[in-house]
Amino acid sequence: MKYDVVVIGAGLAGMTAALKSLIEGRRVVVIAAGENTLYYASGSLDLYGGKENPWAAVKRLESERPDHPYALIGTALIEESFRFLMGELETVCPYQENSGENVWVPTSLGGFRPSYLLPNGQFPAVSLKKKKVLVVGFSSYRDFNSRLVASGMVSRGCEARAIDLDLHYDKINCNSIDLAYYFDDHWPDLIKSLQETAKDVDCLAFPAVLGLNNFLDIHQNLQDALGRPVIEIPTLPPSVPGIRLSRAMLARIQQQGAEVIKGFPVISTRVSDDICLGVYIDTPGHPRYVEGDSFILATGGILGGGIVVSEKSVDEKVFGVPVEVPVNENQEYPYARCGLKANKRLQPLDKDRKVLYRNVFCAGRILGGYDPDLEHDGAGAAIATGYKAALEAGRGDS
Ligand SMILES: Cc1cc2nc3c(=O)[nH]c(=O)nc-3n(C[C@H](O)[C@H](O)[C@H](O)COP(=O)(O)OP(=O)(O)OC[C@H]3O[C@@H](n4cnc5c(N)ncnc54)[C@H](O)[C@@H]3O)c2cc1C
Repeated sequence: MKYDVVVIGAGLAGMTAALKSLIEGRRVVVIAAGENTLYYASGSLDLYGGKENPWAAVKRLESERPDHPYALIGTALIEESFRFLMGELETVCPYQENSGENVWVPTSLGGFRPSYLLPNGQFPAVSLKKKKVLVVGFSSYRDFNSRLVASGMVSRGCEARAIDLDLHYDKINCNSIDLAYYFDDHWPDLIKSLQETAKDVDCLAFPAVLGLNNFLDIHQNLQDALGRPVIEIPTLPPSVPGIRLSRAMLARIQQQGAEVIKGFPVISTRVSDDICLGVYIDTPGHPRYVEGDSFILATGGILGGGIVVSEKSVDEKVFGVPVEVPVNENQEYPYARCGLKANKRLQPLDKDRKVLYRNVFCAGRILGGYDPDLEHDGAGAAIATGYKAALEAGRGDS
């Protein structure tokens, strides 16, 4: 069977691309070697930067950094891509409305980080000011220090204090996923343990582990029973809010009728001049060949597996597109900024800026020209380029 769109990679970029292609009525296959970097991320979606208005900063990139993925796409389409994804997630993994500014979110290390769109349950620090917050930790969960988080909140003007609960749970040193599954079934225990203490506070802050399968109901039920807002604070990886988002998107993609091939990487391609005809997947026994009209390359950066760094070279392995590794003024290589060069249609370019494959479109962290760790634009760039890649894939190689 020949697909209209073959999406390689199931991270935020590939999944946004797949969803948009499906909504446009295309036959879609998603091929993913494995999980994605949402497993590390906070679940909140960054647009750009910190204190400055993010949209003004994004607009400036168009003239100041023309190779930045946002500059390739333009502000109007970035806004459209966010609206599209929020609409898709509305019932399965809802995000809160944003006023157009960044918000500062408490972290599990007692600090605050800027972000743009928060999932239900995560609160901006400003809304906690002068509030009595009870930070609830769990003695078997060492990745969240309730006292550290409370002292960070105090430094931001809250009256926070901390307690740790002993769960009837036999795993010592559990991680966030263990706890999230535990609370899927045992969330009512929290009501029993906290009903009295909750009466003296304005809200309760937990590590973001309150369920994986039933998290929307659990959050609502806890708020109703305790009579107070319940906040989730993103934890160290693995990130439960990131996993919720990833699962919700994948489920929606399957529901819309895409084929999903997960667990096997794309290892090579079949091309004719500047057109890709198909890709080979490393399936057990014999590679599987998948044909398509358009291909979306969304295999991530170094962490996602899309860019492979060895002693001798930095490579993109699926299409062999050259990876640009910038050198800064100190003759250092800021690896976070390395990635593929693309034109405004997101087609990959060679060193002379010539289009390599007309029906291949790149999206997400595989693109160069930006540094999500410093700029806080990882999710935004993945969503916007994934969306744009889907539009371009729909237009084909014309
Ligand atoms: C530690 C950490 C924390 C972060 N926190 C935040 C945050 O709080 N907010 C925010 O906005 N952003 C955050 N980011 C950035 C953001 O999460 C990423 O930039 C974004 O999710 C990247 O998405 P992606 O789809 O491009 O790539 P990835 O998520 O890397 O997905 C790549 C996909 O491609 C697959 N793949 C790779 N090679 C192949 C192959 N050969 N064949 C088939 N499939 C393949 C992988 O298995 C995976 O499914 C964080 C990033 C990290 C690393």
